[in-house]
Amino acid sequence: MHQYIAGRREDGTGEADLTVLDPATGRVVARSTHAGAEDVERAVAAARAAQPGWAGATPGERSALMHRLAAVLDERSADLAALETSQTGKPIRLTTNFDVPGTVDNVAFFAGAARQLEGKAQAEYSGQHASSIRREPIGVVGSIAPWNYPLQMAAWKILPAIAAGNTIVLKPAEITPLTAIAFAEACTEAGIPDGVVNVVTGHGRVAGEALIGHPDVDMVSFTGSTPVGKRIAEIAAQTVKRVHLELGGKAPFVVFDDADLEAAIHGAVAGSLINTGQDCTAATRAYVHRSRFDEFVEGVAELFAAIKLGDPTDPATDLGPLSSLRQRDAVAGYVERARGYGAKIVVGGAFPDELRGTAYESGAYYRPTLVTGVSQDSEIVQQELFGPVLVALPFDDDDEAIRLANDTPFGLAASAWTRDLVRAHRASREIQAGCVWINDHIPIISEMPHGGYKQSGYGKDMSSYSLEEYTQVKHVMHDITGAARKDWHRTIFSA
Ligand code: NAD
Repeated sequence: MHQYIAGRREDGTGEADLTVLDPATGRVVARSTHAGAEDVERAVAAARAAQPGWAGATPGERSALMHRLAAVLDERSADLAALETSQTGKPIRLTTNFDVPGTVDNVAFFAGAARQLEGKAQAEYSGQHASSIRREPIGVVGSIAPWNYPLQMAAWKILPAIAAGNTIVLKPAEITPLTAIAFAEACTEAGIPDGVVNVVTGHGRVAGEALIGHPDVDMVSFTGSTPVGKRIAEIAAQTVKRVHLELGGKAPFVVFDDADLEAAIHGAVAGSLINTGQDCTAATRAYVHRSRFDEFVEGVAELFAAIKLGDPTDPATDLGPLSSLRQRDAVAGYVERARGYGAKIVVGGAFPDELRGTAYESGAYYRPTLVTGVSQDSEIVQQELFGPVLVALPFDDDDEAIRLANDTPFGLAASAWTRDLVRAHRASREIQAGCVWINDHIPIISEMPHGGYKQSGYGKDMSSYSLEEYTQVKHVMHDITGAARKDWHRTIFSA
């Protein structure tokens, strides 16, 4: 039963057969039914009914329940990590050390942040009124999440919304619904009232569109690809909903000639391969000063070749499969087309030979792939692949490096590698991205915002910035003169 509505698991009433597959083996992990419009209707009604009570709880009360949620999730860490691995193929080392503890930390952060929400203090701007700001919840939030970090994305969407007094209906990606439901169940167990957190699982075109177009949903928050984000904004515009979009990325990784090359090479490998490259902030375009280019390519190729692919449940495995065969084939398609237009595949570009004849033979695996010899305007440099593929291109001076880094429609994240303070400051100022790392690439932290520039979207996840986005600002203007006839009435009354 893969719908979670008003504190209960239910079957969906939509078209049959929601099948969750383990992408490492193709084995069926779970079967259920998809949500149809009717389920979305009930979930939105449950969220609407719960909203006034939840908004009426004090910040301290909401915070206490969310702290309890952190404890419930923490207790279940091992089970959650195993469940996430089973539906995504992520190595257990990643789910155990990153997905689950990151989620628990996020819950703890928002439990604290729930008590920090404040409007500006009162001030008497007109001399005749006291003005103050109320920050109020928006109401019912409809959220849609992708499949790359199902548990963390559920947390990023649910937590700021409920910390601010909203209720929510979340639709996770159809291929990875299991940990979002486990998260919602943990909310109930922690004592968060029924209807505050609801999950509908189903297809984007059916359940997703029913949710964002629903007249009783007040705000839409979406994490996913840029084309779907555009469609969501269009649908939401029909009912003038507030929209929050966290979209695709194509992060540049700029290595200046004075960089610590050992650090840059290790950073590029970890930063491009995390989550098998299915990370919206993953390093995808390495721009390396021509004087260090060969050394960089050689170093990355050597480490890529040594990466151990295989059983995601084995702590010794470095890299799992992609999230689905469809995604693996899409990534392989980009690489094959690049071969066709003259790219050099330095390493990778194929299914790992060592997995042939094993239980993982039909898994969605793809070797870490390093590509050179392509031009800046080629498809593999401009478009988001979402796989374990790094493209390296040389540059000759700092102006060119920054120009190339900014030359895609995306602007989610970037990194610059240098020991020169002035260069570091210039890169952080001039690279157009929601996050710029200096001498690192990937780390995130609950206290700091995550979100895009340009076609990577608008709105922030995590941090107090996201909390504010799930509120609306009300100005209260209170007369302090007590006069029946106000000065400004002169505009109407002549005498
Ligand atoms: P996707 O856009 O295909 O799907 C995302 C979600 O949207 C899924 O739940 C899907 O069912 C739903 N959906 C699809 N069509 C829909 C429609 N017409 N109406 C409503 N909902 C619809 O993305 P994906 O392939 O699941 O995830 C990968 C993408 O997510 C990448 O582009 C990646 O960069 C992006 N992403 C961004 C961030 C970020 O914070 N910016 C984080 C993670 C992933």
